[in-house]
Amino acid sequence: MTTASTTKPRKKERNVKLTDAGEPHKSLLLVRKTKPSSTAKTHRTKHIRPHPNFVPPEYALISHHSLSKLSTWSESLAAKGLVNPYTTCFMNSGIQALLAVPMLAQYLRKKYHSRACSAAGWCPTCTMEKLAEHVLVPPGQIKKAKPVNPNAMVKNLRSINKFFSPYDQQDAHEFIISLIDKMDETFLKGRGLDPKGLPDKVAHTTPLSQMFGGWSVQTLSCPLCRYESHTESFHLDTPIQVALGKSKFGTLEEALASMVRPGKLGCEWTCEGCEGTVDPTKQVVIAHPPETLMITFQVYDPIKDRKCSKQPRYPLTLDMSPYVAEPYGDERDRYDLVSVIRHHGHSQHSGHYYCQAKHDGKWYELNDEFVDSITASDATALNGRAAGSAYIVIYMRRPKGAASGIEPEVAPAPQVRTKGKADKGKKSIVGGLAKATMLKKKSGSKRQAIRKRRR
Ligand SMILES: [Zn+2]
Ligand SMILES: [Zn+2]
Repeated sequence: MTTASTTKPRKKERNVKLTDAGEPHKSLLLVRKTKPSSTAKTHRTKHIRPHPNFVPPEYALISHHSLSKLSTWSESLAAKGLVNPYTTCFMNSGIQALLAVPMLAQYLRKKYHSRACSAAGWCPTCTMEKLAEHVLVPPGQIKKAKPVNPNAMVKNLRSINKFFSPYDQQDAHEFIISLIDKMDETFLKGRGLDPKGLPDKVAHTTPLSQMFGGWSVQTLSCPLCRYESHTESFHLDTPIQVALGKSKFGTLEEALASMVRPGKLGCEWTCEGCEGTVDPTKQVVIAHPPETLMITFQVYDPIKDRKCSKQPRYPLTLDMSPYVAEPYGDERDRYDLVSVIRHHGHSQHSGHYYCQAKHDGKWYELNDEFVDSITASDATALNGRAAGSAYIVIYMRRPKGAASGIEPEVAPAPQVRTKGKADKGKKSIVGGLAKATMLKKKSGSKRQAIRKRRR
């Protein structure tokens, strides 16, 4: 570990990502303590604000400055639908949610990766580049556009995660995390870098980790001797427990405030300072907030085997300054909602996923091959059962120099769905036959519910 405790020598702990309940999270990433690599091209990491309990990486594998230039769209784009030949709505919604993140979408569209790609076999980043090229088109072309077939991704789902199959419903969150990990792995391999040969934290300065990753520091304090132990954690997303608590969070802001509020750990801990067994005070601070804030509402309770019907409200614009250790005090503390993955069904591995995404300032519902215009309030609506509850919400940090203030509600995009045909649930507005499945029928009734709400 590179960080020193503020009071006494820090306890040596591995960096384990903790959920709100203090349990290790499945998407945890360990920071490796290894020797520096001589082959890495280095960039200074001055952009990371100093924090007393957090030392930034020694250098970055890709310049943050060049990535941050991609956070403002340089072209007007909207998204086509994606064909779902099997049960791949978990994948389609994940791809659509990621392509609404300007930093990632433009990194892909400008082909920064494939210019230097040397992957021997199938490459996830080259596939995402092709999807970004074919899915994102000028808004005027959406009406006539056919949905894109994500076949190259479907065929290689097992390469992303060995447990994935196009024939079984999977977890959309697991797909996103596995895809990000795979794209970062491809980046490192392409440069001949072994993550085990990189210094602490530098392994998390790959393009995708810099776009989505953030760092938090958890401090445990002994009530007897005041000894403090600091644990740094790298996060690709922020899990918010909804199902396991007592529905205590009415809003996302309340959940974030609870995450950083000091409190008792709630279990026994052996203090290294006095060797006493105590219940220490726990405090988590967001030492380095992410550029792209991905929040997962953990709505599924595996113990009771049911989904929680309550869901916290979340805003179109999130002010992160109350929750980060060192706020900028300007527009960079504000995050704008860019995409939502909704789910209806009883567990992550059944039911149906679809995406709501903002393109060119307008909101769309991207439900496999269907593309519908929606309003911004549809994107933040609480779950009606028909609409499906929000499972993942993705926010993008406002770039420096962007207009500050709460984003006004934007008018809906021009209605792109073909009337009549849509109501029968037979044809996509972007061409291609919809599957006559129960899932599609459900989503059809959901779309009607949305239309009703607007009247
Ligand atoms: Zn590639
Ligand atoms: Zn102690």
